[in-house]
Amino acid sequence: MKVQLEGKVKIRAVHDADVNSFLQKIGLLEDMKNGRLTCSFCNCVLSIDNFGGVFKENGKLKSFCQKTECYLEALKEKSNVIRGK
Ligand SMILES: [Zn+2]
Repeated sequence: MKVQLEGKVKIRAVHDADVNSFLQKIGLLEDMKNGRLTCSFCNCVLSIDNFGGVFKENGKLKSFCQKTECYLEALKEKSNVIRGK
């Protein structure tokens, strides 16, 4: 499947090693450690291994997992996706 990234969507890649500090910075690290961080689309529990990224919706941060369908869903609907990996 070819995904066309157009100007509207900005993706900021974050290196694996930085995921922890990235999550800490946006205030989601504790939630992940406590198993309370879930994917906004498929509702699976997110860990450092399957964390896909975050996007902003109405000023709130939402997270998603690494499943292709969830990532594509985030790209499709949101204009401010920040990838975790
Ligand atoms: Zn998901």
